[in-house]
Amino acid sequence: MRAVVVDSVGARPRVREVAEPTAPSGGVVLRVTATGVCRSDWHAWAGHDEVAFPHVPGHELAGVVVEVGTGVARWRPGDRVTVPFVCGCGRCEWCRAGEAQVCPDQQQPGFTHWGSFAEYVALHAADPNLVRIPDGVDDTAAAALGCRFATAYRALVGRARVAEGEWVTVVGAGGVGLSAVMVARSLGARVVAVDRNPEALAVAAGLGAEHTVHADGRDVPAAVVDLTRGGSSVAVDAVGSEQTCADSILSLRRRGRHVQVGLLPPVDGHPRVPMARAIGWELDLLGSHGMAAADYPAMMALVERGSLQPQRLVERTIGLEEAAALLPVFDRATVAGITVVDPAR
Ligand SMILES: [Zn+2]
Ligand SMILES: [Zn+2]
Repeated sequence: MRAVVVDSVGARPRVREVAEPTAPSGGVVLRVTATGVCRSDWHAWAGHDEVAFPHVPGHELAGVVVEVGTGVARWRPGDRVTVPFVCGCGRCEWCRAGEAQVCPDQQQPGFTHWGSFAEYVALHAADPNLVRIPDGVDDTAAAALGCRFATAYRALVGRARVAEGEWVTVVGAGGVGLSAVMVARSLGARVVAVDRNPEALAVAAGLGAEHTVHADGRDVPAAVVDLTRGGSSVAVDAVGSEQTCADSILSLRRRGRHVQVGLLPPVDGHPRVPMARAIGWELDLLGSHGMAAADYPAMMALVERGSLQPQRLVERTIGLEEAAALLPVFDRATVAGITVVDPAR
């Protein structure tokens, strides 16, 4: 099969022929029909995660089951499915409680094993993790759910418990940030979007952000406090840097909730976080890590009904060659939305 292969940390990704995967026990092989390019793929390429090389990235995906391993009860060849990027083991206390996103024995396509920037991908623990895609939801929209959209949904619904009428500040209007804008609006929240890319801010405004703040070196928290008359109730760092994390926390009003969604790998040491403010103002600092398959049905129902439209976040569809070229520069790419890869292109 054709796949985007990375041979070592920071090496130029190349498209080449590699062996097709076989279904692991309890798992399946999918023919990949759509797979998103995410900043986490860039982190793995840059050496911020422990991945074994040569490596195939890709963790936001939709596809069709082509092979079923031993012990799989729920799935058959031909089933159209997606999967959370965190695949829980299905057996531990966390998985049994519906919290597979924190499973200690989790598998992640594109990190713990080869991912979906390929014609085929193997997935583990298929019964507890695969999610059927309803007929009314296309593959591109479903692929967009796998990491960033589901992460934004869980961050706001499951973690921050956003209520109607609350101000939500979203720092970073990339894939996960724009997803957060859409989810926050669907909950009846009022949104301030922050980014350094004016095009991304225009997209955020189109999705219902009431205010946008161009982060071009200005005092972001002061701007947010001004716009919201005192700060927002909820703020999301959808980028993952010391600066954006601090901007998010300092944009909150007293007793506000910060959700850390953007990854902050300690490559430059642990980030400095304004803890004095967190204590003095009794802020909640919440981590959020994807979303378990158990929580997908409620979100999928909103997508099927059209209340949430992840397909509106898809900016463009590219082939494997373009994905290989995009990966090394993805942290700097000025994309206004989600880039989806069609491996058959
Ligand atoms: Zn991702
Ligand atoms: Zn588990």
